[in-house]
Amino acid sequence: KAKADGRGIYRVFDPAMDAMVQERRQLEVEMLTAFVQGQFRVYYQPLISLGSNRICGFEALLRWQHPERGLISPVDFVPVAEDTGLIVQLDDWVLREACMEAAKWGDDIRIGVNVSPVQFTRGNIVNSVIGALAVSGLKPSRLEIEITESVLLEGSEQTLKMLTQLRQIGARIVMDDFGTGYSSLGYLRAFQFDKIKIDQSFVRDIAGTTGNGAIVQAIAELGRKFGIATTAEGVETQEQLQLVISEGCSEAQGWIFSQPIPASKILALLTMQSAVNVELLKQCVGLA
Ligand code: C2E
Ligand code: MG
Ligand code: MG
Ligand code: MG
Repeated sequence: KAKADGRGIYRVFDPAMDAMVQERRQLEVEMLTAFVQGQFRVYYQPLISLGSNRICGFEALLRWQHPERGLISPVDFVPVAEDTGLIVQLDDWVLREACMEAAKWGDDIRIGVNVSPVQFTRGNIVNSVIGALAVSGLKPSRLEIEITESVLLEGSEQTLKMLTQLRQIGARIVMDDFGTGYSSLGYLRAFQFDKIKIDQSFVRDIAGTTGNGAIVQAIAELGRKFGIATTAEGVETQEQLQLVISEGCSEAQGWIFSQPIPASKILALLTMQSAVNVELLKQCVGLA
């Protein structure tokens, strides 16, 4: 395992490094069997319209129900799945599951699905979306494809073509985690997004003195000028909710309303939503 560094000196074998490589290989293998054995789950987190004070959509969020380690977050396995390419199969599976689930809800409720940048290079996202819509019978305008700025990073013609095709099919294209990448404003010109999700790092400290409040306000304003909806991600407190409302965001998502939940709990949430959300929102705008 020792490696020449170019000057004829050999680096000492590093057991800690070796352990990391081993662990990672094990994860790669485990993920394949987990997928085949059906250990992945889709959780759903509601998005609340700040205009109607009602649930206007859900975001599909992938989870790995590991037999020994319990529920594993996508943060811990999506990057590895992107390296091995398994993410293409995982994303396609989530897309189908989520569309079939959403087809059971009211016609005014959308479903947001995260799509890895790998789908635009190694996958065939356009075919996947067509397949998921056909299988589920979901109205295309109820599907929101969430991509991050990194998809547009290379600005390839091919990527823009695929986004345009997805739009032609009737799906909505959403920019996720807005503000965390590079030259975000250029991307807004390169493609007409339907919605911008303001990254939770700006929402977290929206009340502080770090200028995050001004950033949220500027993005909300930008959205209004361009006719693009804006979602504030990661709203946890009443204070944050109050501020994203006053800064003019059109939607909010976060633990203050609900954590991501399994599909089996969605209908109950939709049934009781008026009682819960409206009261909460009234308090926030001072109507209660
Ligand atoms: P994301 O698309 O930005 O998803 C929002 C994340 O914020 C989710 O984390 C959600 O659980 C979390 N969140 C929501 N409300 C709150 C809150 O009030 N406070 C805090 N602290 N967090 C909140 P999650 O589920 O761990 O997913 C992390 C990321 O993994 C996602 O970020 C997305 O980039 C990726 N991901 C999730 N599912 C998929 C998938 O099916 N395919 C792909 N390619 N990526 C996925
Ligand atoms: Mg997302
Ligand atoms: Mg996000
Ligand atoms: Mg994120």
